Amino acid sequence: MPYLLEMKNITKAFGVVKAVDNVSLSVNAGEVMSLCGENGSGKSTLMKVLCGIYPYGSYEGEIWFAGEQLQAGHIRDTERKGIAIIHQELALVKHLTILENIFLGAEISRHGMLDYDSMTLRCQKLLAQVNLNISPDTRVGDLGLGQQQLVEIAKALNKQVRLLILDEPTASLTERETEVLLTIIRDLQAHGIACIYISHKLNEVKAISDSICVIRDGQPIGTRNAEQMSEDDIITMMVGRELTALYPSE
Ligand code: ADP
Ligand code: MG
Repeated sequence: MPYLLEMKNITKAFGVVKAVDNVSLSVNAGEVMSLCGENGSGKSTLMKVLCGIYPYGSYEGEIWFAGEQLQAGHIRDTERKGIAIIHQELALVKHLTILENIFLGAEISRHGMLDYDSMTLRCQKLLAQVNLNISPDTRVGDLGLGQQQLVEIAKALNKQVRLLILDEPTASLTERETEVLLTIIRDLQAHGIACIYISHKLNEVKAISDSICVIRDGQPIGTRNAEQMSEDDIITMMVGRELTALYPSE
């Protein structure tokens, strides 16, 4: 089976700073890959390259998705292909309802009129998929952060997502909300949806990942099967071996 996603030798510089330096990674359909690295190591930049936030040509390397080379000039191009990113700072419009947020720019109409009945039905189905039992007419500003995260996922599902990128999704979630999120990711995985999961919380990373890709100072350190890595192994790869030299075990 060919990979769902292949990023080959991606380099992205801001001026003289190489935020991402020759990184390659690949993800299968339905695979959950965690992307680990210290603050400033280039994780978000790499994902923004993938999502078309930096236009094609402003980085080096190749991206292949579902058998086609991705030459996105805009985030809408990658969305259409089935790639969705959820940023840490959520992008929902707080004063609009869940339904309005989910269908923003993707409204269903009939005979030139907005078809609220169809949108409500579809919205209820999407909310059920992410285990949210609330009315589509609830204002997003009235939801907790965990619930808003789930609305973002529902919105991605409405766009036929095949790869969902979560950039530090649990940074401000409670333990309970985190558990709910991890359960949803497993459920999506069972439906063949792949996920790239960015987190500092190594217990979550261990719990959710099939594979773990580590970068340090923008450079690729390695990708391993999650089962083969302990939390200590991940930390060592993230910060380098210097720590062991500083604090020898004997
Ligand atoms: P991470 O998500 O792993 O914390 P980032 O990808 O946000 O890291 O940042 C990687 C490096 O690139 C950092 O040194 C950061 O300061 C730099 N960087 C990110 N975005 C920009 C930008 N728009 N302009 C200049 N430098 C940037
Ligand atoms: Mg980041």
